[in-house]
Amino acid sequence: MKMPNPFATHPTDAPARSGHALVIGGSIAGLLAAWVLADHVERVTIIERDHLPTAPAFRPGVPQARHYHFLLVRGRQILEMLFPGLGAELVAAGARPLDLCADLERFGPPGRAQRFVSDLQTYACSRDLLEWSIRRRVRQHPRIHFREGCRVGDLVFDQNNSRITGVWLAPRSVTVADRTEATSLSADLVVDAGGRTSRTPQWLAAHGYPTPTETVVDSGTGYATRSYELDPSIRRDWKGLLIYTRTYGASLLPLEGGRWNVLLTGMGEHAPPTDAAGFMEFIGNLSRPDLYTALEHARPISPIYGYRRTENRWRHYERLNRRPENFLVLGDAVCALNPIYGQGMTTAALGAITLDRCLRRSGWGKHSAGRKGLAARFQRQLARTLHASWLLATSADTATVRNAGDGRRSTRLIHAYMEQLYLVTRRNRRVALARYRVAHLVSPPISLLHPGVALPVIANWVRTRLAQRQRPDGQAEPGLEPPRYPSCQSGRY
Ligand SMILES: Cc1cc2nc3c(=O)[nH]c(=O)nc-3n(C[C@H](O)[C@H](O)[C@H](O)COP(=O)(O)OP(=O)(O)OC[C@H]3O[C@@H](n4cnc5c(N)ncnc54)[C@H](O)[C@@H]3O)c2cc1C
Repeated sequence: MKMPNPFATHPTDAPARSGHALVIGGSIAGLLAAWVLADHVERVTIIERDHLPTAPAFRPGVPQARHYHFLLVRGRQILEMLFPGLGAELVAAGARPLDLCADLERFGPPGRAQRFVSDLQTYACSRDLLEWSIRRRVRQHPRIHFREGCRVGDLVFDQNNSRITGVWLAPRSVTVADRTEATSLSADLVVDAGGRTSRTPQWLAAHGYPTPTETVVDSGTGYATRSYELDPSIRRDWKGLLIYTRTYGASLLPLEGGRWNVLLTGMGEHAPPTDAAGFMEFIGNLSRPDLYTALEHARPISPIYGYRRTENRWRHYERLNRRPENFLVLGDAVCALNPIYGQGMTTAALGAITLDRCLRRSGWGKHSAGRKGLAARFQRQLARTLHASWLLATSADTATVRNAGDGRRSTRLIHAYMEQLYLVTRRNRRVALARYRVAHLVSPPISLLHPGVALPVIANWVRTRLAQRQRPDGQAEPGLEPPRYPSCQSGRY
């Protein structure tokens, strides 16, 4: 789908702008929010507690960056729309262009996925390179400024306690509770992009405002990651390898600089170990030997890093019945998803697009009347935008983690349909493509009910049921590969 590009002209060409916007957090959501805000306000300041590296490098404020960050196709499309030429810059810096359907060798519960050339393109690189490439563009913007090494410790309200007028901030090393060390910075609009650990709920409570209710779906997914240099003599016709069951799996994906990332994931008791022997044992127990073989003569070039804070968590700012004006929240601070579905950076990009649309409609730069009620309108629109991503992540998680399901017949039906659809992807290219498009947020979930997709799925369902009736052992789904771990097979979740 070709998307219109509202940023085809440089943001400095935009007509009316006024005011100062503060963005808390200089990660993906904060950078993208700042970029679109610069089209509407006179000046944007990003406040980031880290000192930001001048080259692609790890920084402590985003510990998750050690783990592979897959850029979904929709995310790639939005980034290239916001920053024309970004893809070429990534490739020049060593990122590998990937055709999602042709370049990845996948082994999943339905067996080996077919490979075919598609229009679903993305880039494989480290999260450090991607964030740095975006940050470099943002730094070049004449109206965006960075305050690094500073932590925001509280919001500043007007005398009536109804409007946010700025923030309190202090050097990272100092606690902001000690106001003698803190300074206040005033702004017309404050945006919290502080990630999963955002302090906004505590700040709102401290100033007598209601806090957002939360929905949490936790599959207990664990991560373990290590980087390697592969033996150059190994023969392969893929750019990436994925081997997974419903509850655990592994991937081998390229990074810039000839490095490769091995990422192990597992739910609950299948969470991967972070010691070297356990790491390789986990790989040896996968349903296929391909990854183990690829690593036999590979050289590890990093420690093994683990990560466990992966629950889907939606803070419902859209439901607040009272909120301060001029204050918005976006990115992981609103909705953090189980990272195995790779949606976080893309939902951050969708949030930035939503912010831009909302500011355009309210006429922020042109008149002050449009600013009233902006926060409520934005949070509601953001919630609508996030709905598909939330549905995809949580329905996949609840289908696997049985006790997290809501037990409703409609939910069971959706899970059963998705299960059949997944099986059909092995043979039917159209169905496979439709599934990838939805998983990459290029098409809405409802597209999976299109007759071209639904008919083969239902036909397979009927065939499976008939075959099942005829088999003396009552076995269903002849195409399903059993996972190696006995507890997965018995569905203990
Ligand atoms: C293990 C793991 C793997 C992931 N894999 C993927 C993937 O494959 N694909 C994908 O798209 N997404 C992935 N994600 C999600 C992705 O990391 C985030 O969604 C993405 O970074 C956008 O988050 P954010 O900018 O909202 O918050 P974050 O990236 O968490 O950044 C928050 C920023 O705010 C700063 N900050 C916080 N509080 C303050 C404060 N008080 N004052 C000043 N600065 C502050 C922090 O230092 C940080 O820079 C993964 C996440 C995890 C945990």
